[in-house]
Amino acid sequence: MSEQTKFVLTEKDLPEKWYNINPDMPVNPAETAWNAVLHPVTKQPVTPEFLTALFPARFVGEAVSMDRWIEIPEEVREIYKLWRPTPLLRARRLEKMLDTPAHIYYKYEGVSPVGSHKPNTAVAQAFYAKEEGTLGFTTETGAGQWGSALSMAANFFGLECHVYMVKVSYGLKPYRRIIMENYGATVTASPSMNTEFGRKLLAEDPDNPGSLGIAISEAVEAAVSSNGKYKYSLGSVLGPVLTHQSVIGQEALKQMEMAGEYPDVVIGCVGGGSNFAGIAFPFLHLNFTEGKKTRIMAVEPTACPTLTKGQYTFDYGDTAGMAPIVKMHTLGHTFMPPDIHAGGLRYHGMAPHICSLYDNGDIEAVALDQLDTFEGALQFMKAEGILPAPESSHAVRAAINEALQAKEEGREKVILFNLSGHGLFDLASYAAYNQGGLRRYRYPDDKIAEAMQHLPQVNL
Ligand SMILES: *Cc1c(COP(=O)(O)O)cnc(C)c1O
Repeated sequence: MSEQTKFVLTEKDLPEKWYNINPDMPVNPAETAWNAVLHPVTKQPVTPEFLTALFPARFVGEAVSMDRWIEIPEEVREIYKLWRPTPLLRARRLEKMLDTPAHIYYKYEGVSPVGSHKPNTAVAQAFYAKEEGTLGFTTETGAGQWGSALSMAANFFGLECHVYMVKVSYGLKPYRRIIMENYGATVTASPSMNTEFGRKLLAEDPDNPGSLGIAISEAVEAAVSSNGKYKYSLGSVLGPVLTHQSVIGQEALKQMEMAGEYPDVVIGCVGGGSNFAGIAFPFLHLNFTEGKKTRIMAVEPTACPTLTKGQYTFDYGDTAGMAPIVKMHTLGHTFMPPDIHAGGLRYHGMAPHICSLYDNGDIEAVALDQLDTFEGALQFMKAEGILPAPESSHAVRAAINEALQAKEEGREKVILFNLSGHGLFDLASYAAYNQGGLRRYRYPDDKIAEAMQHLPQVNL
């Protein structure tokens, strides 16, 4: 076992291929591939034409690909080199603070220029759009993490980027918006007058505060009505996005080898599921193919308990019922996100791949309360110096819980978690926590039951 604290790879260790889990899925791939994606109006499987109107063709191709390894284009690897490979650290000071026999390792994705794992897919999607000759992207963003990643990537490839930002965030969280604008993106408060859907909502209520669902609907409409000039981009949930994020876990595998250990448990927080898939799928691959028995744990908020409380069924991908219908764990597309401070984890659904693996018992899921995750984040910060994003704090707290359990049981355990981003743009949330302004919140079962009344009727 290594005496080192930080495990750093060189550029030549940057993965040359992405890992695509499609051929290793233990269930019928039809459940997770496009042919289980239904049109929101006809409720029939979507056509390739529908998808390529929306996304770059190469991206659509990856979704149905059965190739286990997909070559990372050299243009994408060149940009990855601006911050990849990312470091993996052993949290020795945290271990001491917890007085645990467990060894805690974390992969740190906060070193990317925008502070999270999201550029891993943004850069790939931008390259595909450029290759196709499109002018650029439309997309949505909540607090601005995805919007800033895509704005950066679009800028690198000389593409336009039009971001629909949820109106409340646009007003309350100006810093991410300024980052996007500095990369050259246009940022529009959603709902807006740019789209038919936005104009309709504003006619009904000029003070509509917007939601991620509405912003998705506007971005999709703007792309579809542009006759191919613009493509739409989504930063999580879809198979190719999970594939692009696999660079995280592939690097971590090499780094754990440098550390001379192998994880007993791999942990990631889940919103749409991309950073979790990124760290977990390469380890899951070895569970499937080499008989490894690593526990794989997804961590979600009790305020948005998609995997642990949601129903596994067909639902719309967005709130307005304009996005395709997929089979996933869902709290219902009418889910009203409570005002919790991990904005990136407030999605009513989950990546279909992750739902299917969870349903099959290949991965575990836990839900944690935000008061506990903020407490864990500050403990981590005091020990390791990094302020985690509120989303990542879910993984941090789960790792701490695992380490404390190891202490109770008096046994060694190797824990690896993904620190998906830093929290330097989330200080208002930390201020609210410090001032005692946050409360415990468990999304009520009766609200989930009510939302299940509004699921789309699907006959397959
Ligand atoms: C967006 C985001 C998440 C949640 O998205 P996933 O697709 O589930 O990874 C988690 N952590 C950070 C730092 C994010 O920006």
